[in-house]
Amino acid sequence: MKVVLDKLCKRFPNRDKKIKTEVIAVDNFTFEIPDGTLVGLLGPSGCGKSTTLNLISGLEKPTSGRVFFGDTDVTDMSPEDRCVGLVFQNYALYPHLTVRQNIMFPLQNFKGEKKLTKEVMFEKALEAAKLVQIDMLMERKPNELSGGQQQRVAIARALVKEPKVLLLDEPLSNLDARLRLQTREEIRRIQRETKVTTIFVTHDQEEAMSISDIIVVMKDGVVHQIGKPQDVYDDPINLFVAKFLGTPPINVFKGKVKNHMIYIGNSAILKADKIDDREVYVGIRPEGFVLNDEGELTLDLKGLEVMGRDTTIVSTHECCENVEIRSIVSAETVIYPNMEKVKFSVKPLKTFLFDAETGDRIYFGRQEKRTYEEA
Ligand code: ATP
Repeated sequence: MKVVLDKLCKRFPNRDKKIKTEVIAVDNFTFEIPDGTLVGLLGPSGCGKSTTLNLISGLEKPTSGRVFFGDTDVTDMSPEDRCVGLVFQNYALYPHLTVRQNIMFPLQNFKGEKKLTKEVMFEKALEAAKLVQIDMLMERKPNELSGGQQQRVAIARALVKEPKVLLLDEPLSNLDARLRLQTREEIRRIQRETKVTTIFVTHDQEEAMSISDIIVVMKDGVVHQIGKPQDVYDDPINLFVAKFLGTPPINVFKGKVKNHMIYIGNSAILKADKIDDREVYVGIRPEGFVLNDEGELTLDLKGLEVMGRDTTIVSTHECCENVEIRSIVSAETVIYPNMEKVKFSVKPLKTFLFDAETGDRIYFGRQEKRTYEEA
């Protein structure tokens, strides 16, 4: 089922009654989510992710704009009539019911023609439990399960009624690091198997990048960029998106363009044909540095982090906004920790320029702006 958001807006009265201006939680969000995809809604706290999800589920009504499931306008439909499956951060299972009863619960509300016999409900619950691999735990109560298992029950409960759209709001936040990793892989597998259009809310960029077909990066209610995770990482539209994606984060330097060259301090690091003189931010991804004795950029070496497969060189530079610059090189590279300086050249496709005032991307060299549809 494709989901279409058409100029979706949601404003709330300010929670602080003394402030008369409204909060714009979602601002003019237009997007067509293709059938069967997993979309990650990503952004910092308060950017409007949960509100967007609630507008899709029907838990909130938009101030303006419409929501379509396929060609049907569902904007005025209740959550039940929209047939969505919802999973939240806190699993919200019924403590006095067994796993089987919890999963079956949504099926008991079917009325009239849709009413199911107990046998069919048992069957469907078992099917959903198998999908999330908890079918051996059917008679347990929630307090006899681990956090990861409880979240699987919640997912099975959302899937049992065969929803048109599955909506997950920070479903992994209550799990420890190992379980998070495991459960996010599970969610990806389940989504692939069921092919249900899924929208997944998270503030964790790594989580969103690792499982989403498409990510939507939001800030202050506004969608900044939509695209395949790798495309957004490789081609951020502005400084906010560039900084939000990537671990270690992008290294951001204050710089300038002068005589068609990009400068960090006094070092001319790359050509920028066609760009006039201006102040810029220069973002260099950690993998964008190449150790080179003749390199243009000299950094103060602070340490090495040997990770096995690769090595992170930790350094500083007076023009860098990050406290420490992290550059990743292959583990075979020989660097002497007692060196005071390291010299790098930089990869043009891993180096981004941003307007010093607005943070908007400035495309230079072979880089060019692409829209989500073109990517
Ligand atoms: P988080 O990751 O912290 O859950 P979020 O990105 O999901 O954040 P939302 O919960 O959608 O963000 O909130 C977006 C904005 O709308 C925030 O400024 C929030 O304070 C505000 N907001 C959300 N719900 C209401 C409400 N019922 N009344 C007033 N303001 C609200």
